[in-house]
Amino acid sequence: MKITAIEAIPYTIPYRRPLKFASGEVTEADHVLIRVHTDAGITGVSDTPPRPYTYGETQGSIISVVKDVFAPQMIGMDPFAREAARSIMGRTLNNATAKGSVDIALWDIVGQALETPVFRLLGGFTDRLRVSHMLGFKEAAALVDEAQQMRDRYGITAFKLKVGRTPTSLDMGAARALREALGEGAELYLDANRGWSASEAGAVLAEAAELGMQFLEEPNDAAEHLGRRWLTSRSPIPIAADESAPDLASAARELVTSGADLVAVKTARTGFTESSRIVGLAEGLGVELYLGNQIDTQVGTAASVAFGAAFEATSRRAAELSNFLDMADDLMADPLQIVEGHVRAREAPGVGNSVDADKLAHYRTD
Ligand SMILES: [Mg+2]
Repeated sequence: MKITAIEAIPYTIPYRRPLKFASGEVTEADHVLIRVHTDAGITGVSDTPPRPYTYGETQGSIISVVKDVFAPQMIGMDPFAREAARSIMGRTLNNATAKGSVDIALWDIVGQALETPVFRLLGGFTDRLRVSHMLGFKEAAALVDEAQQMRDRYGITAFKLKVGRTPTSLDMGAARALREALGEGAELYLDANRGWSASEAGAVLAEAAELGMQFLEEPNDAAEHLGRRWLTSRSPIPIAADESAPDLASAARELVTSGADLVAVKTARTGFTESSRIVGLAEGLGVELYLGNQIDTQVGTAASVAFGAAFEATSRRAAELSNFLDMADDLMADPLQIVEGHVRAREAPGVGNSVDADKLAHYRTD
């Protein structure tokens, strides 16, 4: 089998509710759908979410690097040669979601060719993941209302609270309101998206621990080397790396230099091939990881589930899989369901994406 063409299709779908956090705000999904075609008639599909305010990628940059840099080197390749594809794409630094998306599309082809769901090919540890829901910046009462709706409607009992505002009392008030409303049984953790200084984050650690926050993600900029190590050395709860660990090498650096105690895996930025190496790194070092959300569509979320369900290490903690609920629509023909707090991996061959041709025609912007 040979790759014959790689498409990068821009599309825009609005959000019903914008998501606000310390490093940005999302009001519409300006994503890129990747389609890798083969001479066997099999097409691999993946979704690519640019996050310009974090990683610098845009719709335009993703289309350009895929069509102008990756595709000319990959057309004619065997789609099973994922290590060769990784080597080719790895020559270009950065561009994480463009690389990750092409990798996932290759895995989709492999799964379809072998008539096997990719979550089984990768390891098949389980067939479902527990869901964590992300709560953006809102008044405390509105956050409590959203969390209770998610619990009552979808059975979700794990929540990530976006923090990183100043004064920190705004955020810790919200954390306290959530704990009081949801009770001891709810799993709660924090993500400051680098919004605090080390001293601001240091001042809330004791209260975060007292409120039973499981961990604190990106309290400050990890590039503030001593400030971050000062935090991790004194924090009573683990400090997690997300945007400071967007690839294998940076995950290794943050873990071995004590910049973080656990690490987020996002298939949107490390695909399946590099994500599986981050899983191995974390296991070898004896640290935990969890599946994060790059504000993914259903197409992206199905890929996260396919990866996360494959490994024991990525299915222990609740996975961030519910951001798609805030979108006004989606390209997925066969919608994902959150039932009793879980999303099931898809038994269809490949990654489990089913793009609706009419919706793609409607939302594509090229
Ligand atoms: Mg984060």
